[in-house]
Amino acid sequence: MKYNFDNVVAIGAHPDDIEIGCGASLSKWYSEGLNIKCIVMSCENKTRRFEIYNAFEVLNIPKSCIVIGEFNDGGIPHNKTSVSFIDKYVNEKTLIITHNEHDAHQDHRNTSLSAMSAGRDCLNFLQWTTVPFRRVNTFENTPASFFVCIDDFIEKKLLSLTYHKTQLNRFPENWMELLRNQAYINAINSNCQYVESFYLKKFTI
Ligand SMILES: [Zn+2]
Repeated sequence: MKYNFDNVVAIGAHPDDIEIGCGASLSKWYSEGLNIKCIVMSCENKTRRFEIYNAFEVLNIPKSCIVIGEFNDGGIPHNKTSVSFIDKYVNEKTLIITHNEHDAHQDHRNTSLSAMSAGRDCLNFLQWTTVPFRRVNTFENTPASFFVCIDDFIEKKLLSLTYHKTQLNRFPENWMELLRNQAYINAINSNCQYVESFYLKKFTI
């Protein structure tokens, strides 16, 4: 087996968080035959629900891999309910990917903490790095420590984000360039042209 995990569970607070954080890696792993589950903790309305499905379709990840929670946008908790919600989708052989617990957004922090609680027995745990957008901030200052080569998937990732139509006016004007540059700069220590980068919390080989 190439990897020591047989399923990947990505957990994002809002629609588009997962695609921005690790959409290309998920698309790559799904194409390699790994089981993927994408858990979106909150979704304001029907329109955004369809944006999620359309964005993942570009990544070749089917609707059956997506779970949408009913937590309130802005009020996602870290409690028994949020932990139990994630708990049923993870096991020891899961690779969990989620937000960093020092993120400036309370929903991102609580989603990260809930994922950590649910993933206490998981052997592999990564957190995506923050996007280089204004207003999206983190108090995590350590450099990324885990990289996934996404040379064949960067275009799909960028295209998938264009399907979050209601959010495009909230992205900076040059968002595509910023994301591409981030993936390019972070690849400097790898043998790839583009990477998605993560904080490594736990990884077992
Ligand atoms: Zn978010």
